[in-house]
Amino acid sequence: MLRTRVAAIALSFATLALPAAAQRTVPEAPARTEGDGPHERLIVRGVTVIDGTGAPPWGPADIVIERNRITEIRGVGAPGLPIRDDRRPQGATREIDAHGMYALPGFVDLHGHTGGAQQGTPAEYVYKLWLAHGVTTIRDPGSGNGVDWTLRSRERSARNEIAAPRVFVYVRPGAGWNGGRIDSPEKARAYVRWAAEQGVDGFKLGSYDPPIMEALIDEARKHGLGTQAHLAQTGVAQMNALDAARLGLGSLEHWYGLPEALFDDRTVQHYPADYNYNDEYHRFASAGRLWKQAAEPGSDRWNAVMEELLELGFVLDPTLTIYEANRDVMRARNADWHERYTIPSLWQFYQPSREAHGSYWFDWTTQDEIEWKENFRLWMRFLNEYKNRGGRVCTGSDSGFIYKLYGFDYIRELELLQEAGFHPLEVVRSATVCGAETL
Ligand SMILES: [Zn+2]
Repeated sequence: MLRTRVAAIALSFATLALPAAAQRTVPEAPARTEGDGPHERLIVRGVTVIDGTGAPPWGPADIVIERNRITEIRGVGAPGLPIRDDRRPQGATREIDAHGMYALPGFVDLHGHTGGAQQGTPAEYVYKLWLAHGVTTIRDPGSGNGVDWTLRSRERSARNEIAAPRVFVYVRPGAGWNGGRIDSPEKARAYVRWAAEQGVDGFKLGSYDPPIMEALIDEARKHGLGTQAHLAQTGVAQMNALDAARLGLGSLEHWYGLPEALFDDRTVQHYPADYNYNDEYHRFASAGRLWKQAAEPGSDRWNAVMEELLELGFVLDPTLTIYEANRDVMRARNADWHERYTIPSLWQFYQPSREAHGSYWFDWTTQDEIEWKENFRLWMRFLNEYKNRGGRVCTGSDSGFIYKLYGFDYIRELELLQEAGFHPLEVVRSATVCGAETL
């Protein structure tokens, strides 16, 4: 009985915000009037290629693209010498001179909220910021503008009707249907089946009673759909990252649940006595003191958890960038691009507030920043080691919150992975092949 009540309470947190958010949407992207293509035979000339697998750059090369598909990448000479014209592929219907430039696969933002009514960000604004930074694929976690809206954007993008990245639609359980609250494993399965019929690509999960989480993941897998989870603190005591990975969860968003899996001298985070999860200052200040409560790097527990996650093929999507303000709020608030590129409604949304998500700056202190620097250090150590031992660490940005701007702060995620110890080619792999394989 108690367990059912706890589940109902946890669920109400997870679903409360949905109906309102689903009704108020941002404007959809307008029909495309810029750009050209796809082409019968596009040839990109003289470029240096980075393929995203971890292979080093090479060139000069000509890349042949026929109707949106790369059909040939051909070396056309030696660096420092004139291009051998006789070796070049011919018959282009369109050419791009890319001498002195690099060609990379498109970047994948695995945590790309399109932005909702609260941010007041028209889809065109968000999509163009992503495209301008090389982000050609996004996974929209939770479809904050509604399931139909997001599915429509995916289709319009696929048909080239709008200037937008490719969209993968992940929905929050309960969003968009009339089947009532998901308060049992049966309801969870019914929702997944309903969403599969709508054509979604996967599910953004939160905290649920374990049998419901198990049903959601299992049913999604049966339908060949993906799963990603933000394991909120309200649920990590009964389901940490390892528990969820064992159920078959695809990717861990952010990092919540990972220190909890590494606990070896406690079972819950050291919450202060007056902690209230709904006070975001409490939530984020305490989170900054969390990694140091986990087992030490290199300890038996650290190694055992990492090995099991590696065996399960578990994907980490850390979204380091969205937490960066915690270690240096002034840097995030004064980023060079805000003045020119951050629209007023979004800037307003970022301002300190007890209501807006990710705007908990009303009490932030120097000590909080110092704690977060140490938090990052331990977290980055886990990520780098996970990558070194064969694990997948991909890239997502969660922009649109906490002074983080679409596109610009996706690139910042790449810089933070380098800070964690990734070689730039490993960073590019995380940003491209890793995301593509995950989707
Ligand atoms: Zn998110």
